[in-house]
Amino acid sequence: MINKKFLFSLSLATLTAIQGFSWGQKGHDTVAFIAESHLTETTKQAIDSILNGKSIVYYSNWLDNASHTPEYAYTKTWHYKNIDPDETFENAPLLDTGDVVRAINEQAAILNDPNSTADKALALKILVHLVGDIHQPMHMGRRNDRGGNSVRLKFFNSNTNLHSIWDTRVLESGHNWTYTEWKNQIDRATPEETAIILADGTPEKWGKECYLIASEIYDKTPADSNLSYDYVSEWTPVIETQLLRGGLRLADLLNSIYDPYYKGANLIVKK
Ligand SMILES: [Zn+2]
Repeated sequence: MINKKFLFSLSLATLTAIQGFSWGQKGHDTVAFIAESHLTETTKQAIDSILNGKSIVYYSNWLDNASHTPEYAYTKTWHYKNIDPDETFENAPLLDTGDVVRAINEQAAILNDPNSTADKALALKILVHLVGDIHQPMHMGRRNDRGGNSVRLKFFNSNTNLHSIWDTRVLESGHNWTYTEWKNQIDRATPEETAIILADGTPEKWGKECYLIASEIYDKTPADSNLSYDYVSEWTPVIETQLLRGGLRLADLLNSIYDPYYKGANLIVKK
């Protein structure tokens, strides 16, 4: 389950060149739908009340639109963390405006603090989205190419870039499924697999794991490549794993926040 130290040691920090903003809508919907189906009854009721009956899937992609509006422009850099080749995940410089790791910690702290007067619905909508983003490898991409946005290549002969294909096109080429079909097909982890995915989870560890995947993607995707079937078949399993990890970890985080009786082992496995 989620690292309790992470949850309870969170401090409520002061809240204060746009990249591609995230998994496409389908990736975010899939993560949120997997999470929703692993919530305990107590967690579901709490979320129902915060979101006025709307589901976390309904809001999974809300932040990608909101970040483009003046009201929420302060969240623009919250979707990613960049690490250049001469840096490590740990020593990469932090943006004053925040990154995805810090933003997840901050929003979880707001939700976890019964005395917080911050807007809980807003924090929840942001959190649901960012737990998806921190599992998209190109959101742990390099600063010097804007998370892969400047790495030009072809995908089935059409001009695009590395970030863009990882937001949507590899996923959509791998399976032409709806988000419910994605969930039904990939949300099949055994209890042992689930335990590994949830072990000692913190946003820092999720980000580091995703950064290592990003490093491998960079190695195997040179600029000006013309990618096609073999690329889709090589990386589709990684996308499946990342969406499943995101969904289970989001459920674990929300259950840990909202259900005092949740002990990780309660994670409901619905097939
Ligand atoms: Zn995003």
